[in-house]
Amino acid sequence: MTFITEPAKQLPIKYTTDVCVVGGSATGVFAAVRAARLGAKVILLEQNGFLGGVATAALVCCWHSNNDTTGKTQVIAGLTAEVEERLFRLGAGDLCPNGNETRERASFHFNPYEMRTELDMLCRESGVQVLLHTYYCTLMREGGKISHVIAENKDGRFAVQASFFIDATGDGDLARDVGMKGYRHAWTQPPTPTYFVAGITEHAPVADLIKQYPDETTLVQDSGWGMKIPGTPGVILQADTHVQGLDCATGEGRSRAEEIGRAQVRECMKLIRAHVNPNAALAATNAYLGLRETIHYQTKKEAVLTELMLGTAYDDCILQGTYSGDEHLANGAIHLKFFDGNYVTLMPDRTVERGNWWKEYGVPADHEVPTRYRLSFANLVNEVSPNLIAVGRMIHADEGSFSALRVMVNLNQLGEAAGVAAYLALQQNKPLQQLDGVTVAKTLEKGGSANFA
Ligand SMILES: Cc1cc2nc3c(=O)[nH]c(=O)nc-3n(C[C@H](O)[C@H](O)[C@H](O)COP(=O)(O)OP(=O)(O)OC[C@H]3O[C@@H](n4cnc5c(N)ncnc54)[C@H](O)[C@@H]3O)c2cc1C
Repeated sequence: MTFITEPAKQLPIKYTTDVCVVGGSATGVFAAVRAARLGAKVILLEQNGFLGGVATAALVCCWHSNNDTTGKTQVIAGLTAEVEERLFRLGAGDLCPNGNETRERASFHFNPYEMRTELDMLCRESGVQVLLHTYYCTLMREGGKISHVIAENKDGRFAVQASFFIDATGDGDLARDVGMKGYRHAWTQPPTPTYFVAGITEHAPVADLIKQYPDETTLVQDSGWGMKIPGTPGVILQADTHVQGLDCATGEGRSRAEEIGRAQVRECMKLIRAHVNPNAALAATNAYLGLRETIHYQTKKEAVLTELMLGTAYDDCILQGTYSGDEHLANGAIHLKFFDGNYVTLMPDRTVERGNWWKEYGVPADHEVPTRYRLSFANLVNEVSPNLIAVGRMIHADEGSFSALRVMVNLNQLGEAAGVAAYLALQQNKPLQQLDGVTVAKTLEKGGSANFA
């Protein structure tokens, strides 16, 4: 490769603020809103023309249960519960038990287009300044701290000056640029193209159709899921295939994955029209391919499956969750690990394999079965930058714990914790590394998060 030198040019410092959040999924929005509610001046930059990240752009409109595994104790509250309540009142969200879920353990399903508007309103009410269609390009440093991010939108290239930065880009774009150590898992979970179908009443079982009619499609055997959307009768979310074998952390890989994903959706629609309803219509597709995983960035504490799923408690707990381990594998299988040690692998040929992961990890069979897991604030603290938190699916986690932590109810809570930590760092004039995690946890609770005890 040959190189050219881009000429240096002066950029306007268009915005000066306390906290700059980059990336506007619920992770980023909740970080911004929490910091703003505590009194910080906050700006949020988002490359799309709307907020919500994968939840809205990729139509992944399902937040998992807020209750512990008994279904009796609420362990997730805060902005997740607040937004759910707002969408519920609007008729755009509801608890929808799936499979053997009870209503107490049900997922919250929502209309992703109404979610976009709700997140706009939440930011506006909280005084967060949102800049949509604004792409983070790079950052600048002064005296060890990040001083500015450089972004581009229709106004051209400009700088945002802030005292604290939150990277909620999913991929960890700021984490990369500030020099946090990145790594990939041996297996990176593949993306799935998502689409809405009008004219069917239940999830069309595309995997079964591939098995039954292999000569009618170019699709390989795969595993998928789907669901109804509250307040949106006659439309079903389908997520039936995986785009395997591409590195979506690269420009070319991500671009090719988009094309393959769309081609897969066309094949799925052919099967649905041929065998479910000839009048079924493709009502919407993801605005971009939602990614499950790309790169991770090291922080002070790695999340580890055996600590997480065996219920290790922390004084500086900033997240409680119950979603089980959920790995999408290279052969299209979905591997689920549960709190009680059992695992289930849903094979693409529709068979099910069962076993016990505790045995594989040497966990004594009489270990107490936890009803929730927890995460320490140290998981958000990097050792490179005093004024940056990276939060989201770039989390420092082993494969097993990542597969549980990656879902939105968890990342939403981590976003809130990042916003609180940013505010406290400014208020106490301390680098991130010197913040007291217990104070972060207590401030989260005071602001509406569930009790972490
Ligand atoms: C197909 C699929 C199905 C899933 N199913 C579920 C499910 O049922 N329930 C569940 O809870 N989770 C599910 N997940 C996982 C979950 O959706 C993701 O892990 C989660 O959304 C990641 O959140 P995030 O905030 O880290 O990243 P994202 O949601 O990817 O958000 C990152 C945001 O940053 C923005 N951004 C990125 N780079 C820049 C930049 N340079 N400048 C400006 N903005 C930028 C993006 O536009 C985006 O808005 C699924 C994921 C996929 C892909």
